[in-house]
Amino acid sequence: MSEMENLNAQNEEGSEEKVSRNFIEQMIDKDLAEGVYDTVHTRFPPEPNGYLHIGHAKSILLNYGLAKQYGGKFNMRFDDTNPTKEKIEFVNSQLEDIKWLGADWEDRLFFASDYFPKMYEGAVKLIKKGKAYVSDLSADEIREYRGTLTEPGKEDPGAKRSVEENLQLFEDMKNGKFADGEKVLRARIDMASPNMNMRDPVIYRVAHMTHHRTGDTWCIYPMYDFAHPIEDAEEGITHSICTLEFEDHRPLYDWVVRELEYERPPRQIEFAKLYLKNVVTGKRYIKKLVEDGIADGWDDPRLVSISALRRRGYTPESIKMFVELCGVSKAHSIADMAMLEYCIREDLKLKKPRMMAILDPVKLVIDNYEGDGEMLEAANNLENEELGTRMIPFSKELYIEREDFMIDPPKKYFRLFPGNEVRLMNAYFVKCESYETDENGNVTVVHCTYDPETKSGSGFTGRKVKGTIHWVDAKSAVPVEVRLFENIVDEEKGVYNEEDGSINVNPDSRKIVTAYVEPGLAKAKAFESFQFVRNGFYCVDYKDSKEGAPVFNRIVSLKSSFTLPKQS
Ligand code: ATP
Ligand code: MG
Repeated sequence: MSEMENLNAQNEEGSEEKVSRNFIEQMIDKDLAEGVYDTVHTRFPPEPNGYLHIGHAKSILLNYGLAKQYGGKFNMRFDDTNPTKEKIEFVNSQLEDIKWLGADWEDRLFFASDYFPKMYEGAVKLIKKGKAYVSDLSADEIREYRGTLTEPGKEDPGAKRSVEENLQLFEDMKNGKFADGEKVLRARIDMASPNMNMRDPVIYRVAHMTHHRTGDTWCIYPMYDFAHPIEDAEEGITHSICTLEFEDHRPLYDWVVRELEYERPPRQIEFAKLYLKNVVTGKRYIKKLVEDGIADGWDDPRLVSISALRRRGYTPESIKMFVELCGVSKAHSIADMAMLEYCIREDLKLKKPRMMAILDPVKLVIDNYEGDGEMLEAANNLENEELGTRMIPFSKELYIEREDFMIDPPKKYFRLFPGNEVRLMNAYFVKCESYETDENGNVTVVHCTYDPETKSGSGFTGRKVKGTIHWVDAKSAVPVEVRLFENIVDEEKGVYNEEDGSINVNPDSRKIVTAYVEPGLAKAKAFESFQFVRNGFYCVDYKDSKEGAPVFNRIVSLKSSFTLPKQS
């Protein structure tokens, strides 16, 4: 077996079934076939400056998935080269999110800051090769000297310095002899390059800052475009996958690994970022919602940070299904939140018990019912017998949903109205005899009679009813807090206000109601989720729930307008 066949044989998903391979897989296949690499080694390199979001999930699952698929390795690496915005809090939250998503870095957790000595050595090597020089220009001057797309740049006066002088000055930079911004190290490439990134880019700057890992050891820090290829090369990464905005930086990436003479340099491959319509993704904007108090923290269930999705009740499986449906491509596209919602419904549909909960209660009294303490058996999930059954209390006084009764119904309304008979789910047929209202005309009680012959599971075939409604027993039902979420963004206006760039916020994105639920639900634990029949999927909030008093977050309603896109 050739190396290539060998690697393909390790393909977990079974390579025969996979007909269409995405463009990254095609590039990797080619690299392996041509012997450019004999293994696949990927990484996920976030900056620890915020919480990860659904877009990052795509990148994580893509990188991890490729490593698994080719029997290769996956590194977790923090790109912590910019100490100003980075914090340990974010390191920890990001690790937790990645682990939760199921991407396993095993013992390969790295920090870019661990390579600061290597990067310094690399810079010295470039100076010695005449490929880097120390510049005295200010940031503004560098911009001015850089030229434009139509005009070449001007040579930096520092470019004339001798190797010895550059070595000395760079060492002085390292030793703290200069103030921030006084000197930078530039790569000597081509001031006339049509690619602006190649016009002698800055690769090191002076910055007297305390780093969250290296403390005050360094007062010079490498720039991203110089640091990133070194991190990849040092770790033996083969395919360095990033998003499209780095496409124009690739020549610089290649220049760095070539000039530093890495034997088997990594290859950068870019793909299009994941965007969601009418959803705030970018870390910067999520941060703003949090700072402005519009969202309560990074894990507010209305956000799409990974921690928020987890809190809301999304599962790793649903996120994986979603990013797979989105696919990998070079073309920008915008996914719909409805697709993510479809994925979580699909994932939970068979896995979760279907319970009865009443969100907007109205009392139903069965006037001819004389039972006391009757318990009824209910299947936990009619589509999945393995979830078993449970017993639920039934009595003369119940709650039903207000919308399941109408005094004067339109045609095709098959639920309760005066004179109509329906099935109470898992229980009996009831027929509406009368109702009571308050002084404003709001219904307060619905009066019914029941037929004891019609008990669920009794095999009754005497007559049929067109509607089935759910209920809870009034006496034993437990009142719980339920949070109904809508998009935090005003969908009519779109995410960003065109005038000032602020976010158009939907003022009604969180509605809190008291629902009455089956007694069994009172014991629900943090992160447990359920279907509330005829309504939606709900998850127990891990922050605000108390023992015996769960708070439920609506993950998603059962209604869907989404249909799976046709497979091309
Ligand atoms: P943002 O500003 O949206 O939070 P970022 O690119 O600044 O994102 P990094 O921490 O630098 O965040 O990103 C880590 C990795 O995640 C990078 O490889 C980046 O390309 C990738 N990534 C970030 N956003 C997305 C997205 N929306 N879709 C796919 N990958 C993404
Ligand atoms: Mg960033």
